[in-house]
Amino acid sequence: MQSFHDIPIKRKLVIIMMLTTTTALLLAGIGIVVSDSVLFRQYLQRDLSALSRIVAENSTAALAFNDPQTATETLAALRAKPHLVNACIYRPDGTILARYSRPDAPSGCPPMRVQDELQFAGNDLTVSRAIVLSGRRIGTLTLDYDLDEIPERMRLYSATVLGVLLFSSLVAFLISAKLGGVIAAPVSQLVRATTAVSETNDYSIRAQKFSGDEFGVLVDRFNEMLAGIQTRDKHLRTALQDREEALRDAEKAHERFRFMAESMPQKIFTATPSGDVDYFNRQWLEFCGLTFEEIKNWGWIQFVHPDDVEENIRSWRRSVETGEPFLFQHRFRRADGEYRWHLSRAHAMRDTAGNISMWIGSNTDIHEQKEKEEELRRANDDLQQFAYSASHDLQEPIRDVAVYSEIIAKRYDDRLDADGRQFLGFLKEGGRLLATLINDLLAYTRAGVVEGTVSTTDTSVALEHALSSLAEAIRESDAVVTHGPLPHVYIGDAHLQLVFQNLISNAIKYRKEERPQIHVSAAAQGADILFSVQDNGIGIDPQYKEKIFGVFKRLHRDQKYSGTGIGLAICQRVVERYGGRIWVESTPGKGATFFFTVPRHTTKIRSATVESSAS
Ligand code: ADP
Repeated sequence: MQSFHDIPIKRKLVIIMMLTTTTALLLAGIGIVVSDSVLFRQYLQRDLSALSRIVAENSTAALAFNDPQTATETLAALRAKPHLVNACIYRPDGTILARYSRPDAPSGCPPMRVQDELQFAGNDLTVSRAIVLSGRRIGTLTLDYDLDEIPERMRLYSATVLGVLLFSSLVAFLISAKLGGVIAAPVSQLVRATTAVSETNDYSIRAQKFSGDEFGVLVDRFNEMLAGIQTRDKHLRTALQDREEALRDAEKAHERFRFMAESMPQKIFTATPSGDVDYFNRQWLEFCGLTFEEIKNWGWIQFVHPDDVEENIRSWRRSVETGEPFLFQHRFRRADGEYRWHLSRAHAMRDTAGNISMWIGSNTDIHEQKEKEEELRRANDDLQQFAYSASHDLQEPIRDVAVYSEIIAKRYDDRLDADGRQFLGFLKEGGRLLATLINDLLAYTRAGVVEGTVSTTDTSVALEHALSSLAEAIRESDAVVTHGPLPHVYIGDAHLQLVFQNLISNAIKYRKEERPQIHVSAAAQGADILFSVQDNGIGIDPQYKEKIFGVFKRLHRDQKYSGTGIGLAICQRVVERYGGRIWVESTPGKGATFFFTVPRHTTKIRSATVESSAS
């Protein structure tokens, strides 16, 4: 059977209302019946007492004259009271003067009572009253009244109460059924809406509001809750769609990447953030003749040249740890066993939070290029050797030309005509130019060699030496050379002096009409010292600012600015040997500033030293 808790609210409400109404009515009915029986008894007492007084007073004469006839007539009037069973008038001696008995009642008067009293006994109420004349008791009246009226009334009242109860219950049922509907309807509606939402997951459904009471508030809150869920659901769906779209995009990008990687001539790979290689393109597998399973993760190490393995692993691990790009040249063993030089590059791909999501790398076969470089390096070395030997060996004959042309000029001057002297002049000038060129060439070939271990050089001392070697030019041009604080740097003393010498001599040479003003300064820049040599000369057209550092590259061919076009090439060679760089910034007509960097530490220099000694 369904428990009370489980039955519908409407029925619950009807039951509660019916129970309440019926109980109230029942209690009221019982109350009425009980109070009526109590009140009726009191009423009977009063009524009978009054009746006895009237009868007693009316019987005084009959008793005084001992007239049973009149007394009986007086008592006969009591017939009107159907519940009066017996009425007796006693003489003072207790004998009966007159009496009345209801026809159905057993006749007989009870023994006379001496005192006035009103007494309930069994189903009877008996009243005894003295009949008094002039203050003297002349007889007694007794009325015997049955109480059958009380159960009668009770029955009547009970029947009435029952009728009212039934009628009221029916009315209450109808009202409660109607009112219950009014209360239950919003709840049922709310239940329907909730069921519909849970079955369809459609959060746009809204419950209908019927009233402004608590149910109305409940419906409002419920609808607000649905609206909130709907918005959240919408956001969630959008986020989900975005995510799906992003995933699709990522998949497409991934496919595109794979397609691109497979169709490229280079060998492509990808690796996890921890450096395990998780993809090699077809070119890779064809090159090494191994399967992906054999070379995945760190399996690729097996085809790296044994001499390159250690450095390769170190370099790759450093990149994985720091996230810095991986750039490395090493040899890979081809399927036929031949090792070929490759340039490997890998870059870390980062997500929006900046975390490495993967590594993408390429390996380019640079074997031919490497061989050509080697050939070129050898040819360059040979050429340099030749240039060095040639310029070295040419020094002697050129000195001879200078010496002998001087001797001819001194000894045979009087024997030479004007043409002869002029030609001799050409010869001397040519010899001088040749000597300068040879000296510059020698300086250039030497500029690339860093000898032994480099120690710190006091820049101010190097500058001082450079200036003293340029003393004549400075004096002639009346140049002013100033400088700021100069640090100690890791560069060969002679090399730094050579750079200053070339830059300052150029600053003097390429001056304008005004007095040359040259300023040398130095400033720290990361791991380097940045030097600048600033002048107020003719300046350089920016389009030539790279070209002028080439060997024999000159912007001025006229007599006004003599030179061999090697000075800046020497400076570049020196600076680059120490891992630095040199460049110029200038506005034509407003002077030029040459900048060059020199490392503050030895690390860069050592590798340069190794490089140059290897060459
Ligand atoms: P050289 O001075 O012997 O011609 P350099 O290699 O020293 O050769 O210089 C190359 C060219 O750069 C010069 O011919 C000149 O045109 C230009 N140049 C160098 N220094 C300066 C300078 N301070 N001001 C203007 N031009 C300069």
